[in-house]
Amino acid sequence: MVTVPLVGAIFGFGALAAVFLLNRGLAPRGGWLLVAYLLLASCPALAETLQGQAWWVGMPPPQSISSILLVLQLTTLGLLTFFSLGLSGRLGWLTACAIWLVVLAVVGLLLPGVVLPLGQMTAMLAVALAGWMLFSAGLLLALIYAYLTARLPLHANRVLFWTLALLLCLVGQALPLSTDALAAHLGVPIGLVGATGLTYAVLRHRLFDVRDALRRGIGYLLSTIIVACVVLMGLLLASQFLTTGGSSGVLGVALVALLLAFMFQPLWNFSQRMIQRYVLGERSDQAMLLRDYSQAIGEILDVEQLATAAVGIISEVLEVRRGALLLVTLLEDGDFRLRPVRGMGQLPQDERYLRSDSLVMQGFCETRGPLLQYDIDLGPSFHALEPEERDWWHNLAMDVYVPIMGREVPIGILALGPKGSGESYRPTELELLGTLAGQTAVALKNARMFGDLRQLNTEVNGLNEDLKSTNERLQQLDQVKSDFITIASHELRTPLTQVKGYTDILLAMNEEGGLSRNQVTEIGGSLSRASDRLEQVINAMLDVSQIDVQGMAMHFIETSIDTVLRFAIEKLAPAMRERKQTLTVRGVIGLPVLYADFQRLTQALSNVLTNAIKFTPDGGKISITGQQLSARGGPGDFIEVVVADTGVGIDPKDQELIFEKFYRVGNPTFHSTGATKFMGAGPGLGLPIARGVVEAHGGRLWVESSGYDPQTYPGSAFHIVLPLRPPAMSAEAMPSLESGASRPAGAAAVAAGAPGRR
Ligand code: ADP
Repeated sequence: MVTVPLVGAIFGFGALAAVFLLNRGLAPRGGWLLVAYLLLASCPALAETLQGQAWWVGMPPPQSISSILLVLQLTTLGLLTFFSLGLSGRLGWLTACAIWLVVLAVVGLLLPGVVLPLGQMTAMLAVALAGWMLFSAGLLLALIYAYLTARLPLHANRVLFWTLALLLCLVGQALPLSTDALAAHLGVPIGLVGATGLTYAVLRHRLFDVRDALRRGIGYLLSTIIVACVVLMGLLLASQFLTTGGSSGVLGVALVALLLAFMFQPLWNFSQRMIQRYVLGERSDQAMLLRDYSQAIGEILDVEQLATAAVGIISEVLEVRRGALLLVTLLEDGDFRLRPVRGMGQLPQDERYLRSDSLVMQGFCETRGPLLQYDIDLGPSFHALEPEERDWWHNLAMDVYVPIMGREVPIGILALGPKGSGESYRPTELELLGTLAGQTAVALKNARMFGDLRQLNTEVNGLNEDLKSTNERLQQLDQVKSDFITIASHELRTPLTQVKGYTDILLAMNEEGGLSRNQVTEIGGSLSRASDRLEQVINAMLDVSQIDVQGMAMHFIETSIDTVLRFAIEKLAPAMRERKQTLTVRGVIGLPVLYADFQRLTQALSNVLTNAIKFTPDGGKISITGQQLSARGGPGDFIEVVVADTGVGIDPKDQELIFEKFYRVGNPTFHSTGATKFMGAGPGLGLPIARGVVEAHGGRLWVESSGYDPQTYPGSAFHIVLPLRPPAMSAEAMPSLESGASRPAGAAAVAAGAPGRR
């Protein structure tokens, strides 16, 4: 016999499946599960009908079929829920359902046909029902959790909608098992309503706002109550007239009725406005908001301020707690650069480049309207969005994006977070945001142009500064060049003149025949000193030219800094004694051995020491301090030697230049009165050579001084940092170094990674 539930079920669920398949096929998430569920949902009615047929005799009893169908329905429903809402735990659910089915089968086999006293149920049906309750409760709990943890209101709305539809489905599943005939028949229609809800939710990613619908319903209810009260009051008043006033009473009633008729519509509108404003919290004075907004942002020429002002005003109206302005730059290759500028609240994302075919940007260009994060997450048009880009938008943690359009592409995007009330954005609000974004376009264009100009200006200023300092340096170097001629000729000519002069004297005196032995010794001594000086200057020039071509040959041997210093000091001790200067040496004994070119390092240290003597007044103090820079030991370590004096000091602007060849502070024609005389001039080659040698060891040499002052003597401190082993030396090369190995200077200097200041 064909029953009503059968027709209803087959027609209803079948129609739903057909609508679904015609609309979307099985493509949407969980599509095949929905079709499976719809088929399963129609089965109980079918089974019930079939059992009435004569040929069904001998087939499984009705309650066993219902039990199994119940398990299958709930399994599918649960999986569909997990799929459609993107919840995790599908596998767990499937396993639990499988266990439930096995238990059911075991009970069916062990206790066939056992009927429990409770409502004439078989043991199998009882197990199925108990499981149904347990599993339904679990599913609902999972939905409640998903609702509470939903980040965006539209996600929460989807969960809420799904929960309501699911509840109806569950009730529709349970009711056919009831012994009450009416309740059993209600199962199919209720289940159909629930299934319609689920089908709608799977087909459409944007669902109608359940909470908004509820709120509006309440709004209408309140308006109706208010208007009804007023009408009732009027009617009460009229009845008062009617009982007391005879013919005037009829007139009075007519008047009240007319008044009520006139007042009905305005009263309804008024109550609706009041409820919208004070109960539902909707702002209707949009014109005022637009005026406030354009006034507030019109004058702003700074992008950061613009973001703060725009988001600030919007947040006042829509009670948004977070917001930002994403600055969009269209790059030459068609890609986009998005730079988030904070407006309010945290901004967790950095700048991001999006490809020209980014679905989101294309969406903005096509619709020129707002886009919801919910659409990006679930919208069918964004299914193919690149996962990385999807994550970026997701991590911005915003709710809505409103493009600020340029001519064809957005120049900015107003990104707004969820509303404080937890509600989703209403269509009217999205429209309002679109209008506000339109107003922001001009202000944003101006601000960006102004920002670009300001940046350009800063860049030009920076370039100017660079140009100025390069110019100054070029001038100084130019000066050095011309000084070189003066210095070289002066430094070479002085001893040369001496040689020539003494030779002339020697010859003249010899001709006269009056040359005594003492005179020969004296003139010979002077000649020797002059030619020594000549040799020194020429050697220095050769050394410095070697550094230039990175060809200074190094002979590294194992030595100690203490020995090197002793050699350097030994030669200069007479000069220090003559100048009554005191020298203190601390911390050098006990420093680890190092690999160094003994002669070159002695030369470098003696150059620095010579300068300390030369630029420190008589009676001044010179100190040498040594220390190990790292206590770890091993080839990576460094030692530092600081040569400090109480001399005239060095102006900060000269502190790098003095390491340039031929550079000397002051007048280059200043006459040299001797290598160690106070403020005696030299060829300006001592420090470039010293630095060249130190760098050839992989070390660093620099000076620190508060400034030049020949009255107060602020002093200077030359820092020499040397690695215990030059970096260019490989471990394999070590044994041969014991006897001294040659390496070109440049290699070590390039690999240098010594600590210190340059
Ligand atoms: P010079 O042969 O002229 O001494 P250097 O290269 O050794 O050439 O030094 C360059 C310049 O650096 C010196 O002319 C001097 O002005 C300055 N200078 C070097 N050492 C010191 C120091 N200890 N105190 C003050 N000025 C110094």
